Amino acid sequence: MKIAIYPGSFDPITMGHLDILRNASEIFDKVIIAVAHNASKKGFLTTEQRVELIKKSVQDLSNVEVDSFSGLTIEYAKKHNAQILIRGLRAVSDFEYEMQLSQANSALCSDIKTVFLTTKPEYNFISSSTIKEIWSNGGDVSKFVPSAVNEYLLQKRD
Ligand code: ADP
Repeated sequence: MKIAIYPGSFDPITMGHLDILRNASEIFDKVIIAVAHNASKKGFLTTEQRVELIKKSVQDLSNVEVDSFSGLTIEYAKKHNAQILIRGLRAVSDFEYEMQLSQANSALCSDIKTVFLTTKPEYNFISSSTIKEIWSNGGDVSKFVPSAVNEYLLQKRD
């Protein structure tokens, strides 16, 4: 059974993340989307809120589980018997950082491989920070985030 972990901040989850996740769920037997909890970094949403919004957004994906973790991704992957880490690539600018991350993880545990996926072109430019920027300036983000996230953001503005 091929188990993949899709780790990230997901602050909040976007249509870009969801597209990567959907593609991964078609390739692997089970995908765990895991919110990385970073105690020293204050995010926009809490880890619990991010997990909650992801759960609402992935209900149609039967082989996807939602979780959070702290510490090394590779340790989390081992604990869940995962052999694959999923990461998304948007632009060449993502490449250097993602390459280093995958090589560091591979140096820590060569049994776990990183697989890079891309999104549909219309989701390619979307990032959580772009969403927060548009939202904080009163813009409409409904096309770029799952409906649960859009509803949450509209409420948060009121
Ligand atoms: P991190 O803080 O770990 O980079 P993010 O939540 O920003 O977490 O992203 C998680 C992963 O999803 C990263 O590999 C990132 O490159 C990828 N990703 C995010 N948005 C997109 C997108 N629009 N298209 C492709 N990959 C994406």
